[in-house]
Amino acid sequence: MSETADAPKTGAEQHEFSAEVGRLLDLVVHALYSEREIFLRELVANAADATDKRRFEALTDAALALPEKAGIRIVPDKDARLLTISDDGAGMSREELASNLGTIARSGTRAFGQKLDAAKPEDRPSLIGQFGVGFYAAFMVADKVEVISRKPGTDEAWEWSSDGKGAYTLSPATRETPGTDIILHIKSDADEFLDSWRLKSIVRKWADHIAWPITMREKSE
Ligand code: ADP
Ligand code: MG
Repeated sequence: MSETADAPKTGAEQHEFSAEVGRLLDLVVHALYSEREIFLRELVANAADATDKRRFEALTDAALALPEKAGIRIVPDKDARLLTISDDGAGMSREELASNLGTIARSGTRAFGQKLDAAKPEDRPSLIGQFGVGFYAAFMVADKVEVISRKPGTDEAWEWSSDGKGAYTLSPATRETPGTDIILHIKSDADEFLDSWRLKSIVRKWADHIAWPITMREKSE
């Protein structure tokens, strides 16, 4: 699915995060340590949103139609220490990866930070959801995140990759079918998020309302 070596990939381009993203990443990673499990709620919600989006787009362009078994797949791989969340959704182009994951379209990040600091711990997850910083929650549990995405109706795929420390890389990639893979390189202190029972209980708690099927299978050796 993705190369594991840290060697530079052919055609890889390095980009800086916008200043707001840097600040937000710091906040999310440090202020929400005790609420780490909500990263999965955020990533599953994004996968469901992307699947809804594709279904809507397919209403006016049948070529974009969802596959019959469209859904969200959660795959923990203990040996490789990877957790992958995949969908069959609308995907992102190279430009969309850069603008959706590399900048914050909304203003008010500083105000959000102050709110987050002031909020009771139990109120923080809902603040995060409300302010749409969802994707960055991945860096609470991962020291590197790769996003491989292909838009329906195209053959080309792109990979966005970052350690959440100021910069991200965009490189050409391949993906067999349209949709998106979010690949988390799980931190050494976050083993629990490679455990399928733990993951299932998080899904039950936070993603019960999701309209698309969510399946989990452990990566077999
Ligand atoms: P929000 O969901 O509130 O917009 P997020 O930080 O969760 O904020 O996600 C940022 C953006 O990244 C989304 O609005 C969407 O455009 C894009 N995105 C994230 N995950 C996916 C995905 N799995 N498929 C397609 N686009 C995605
Ligand atoms: Mg979101």
